[in-house]
Amino acid sequence: MTRPDRKPERVDPEERLQDVAGWEILFALCKCEHFAEVDIRRLKRKFGADTVLRTLEPKLKCAKCGGSGARHFSL
Ligand SMILES: [Zn+2]
Repeated sequence: MTRPDRKPERVDPEERLQDVAGWEILFALCKCEHFAEVDIRRLKRKFGADTVLRTLEPKLKCAKCGGSGARHFSL
């Protein structure tokens, strides 16, 4: 599958951590519009590879505003 550009694409929140390919970079978007790279390997170790992304959203903490809860994930 080819993509015309690398604009972040929203990820299906029902996907699991193990569904994200190793070469892909996952981003989380905060309510404050802060966009941060997510360390997938760290999340897998912490929560398990079969964790559904939707259940992770409230567990993430923003490095900018300190608020918890990602609005959504993007690739
Ligand atoms: Zn934030």
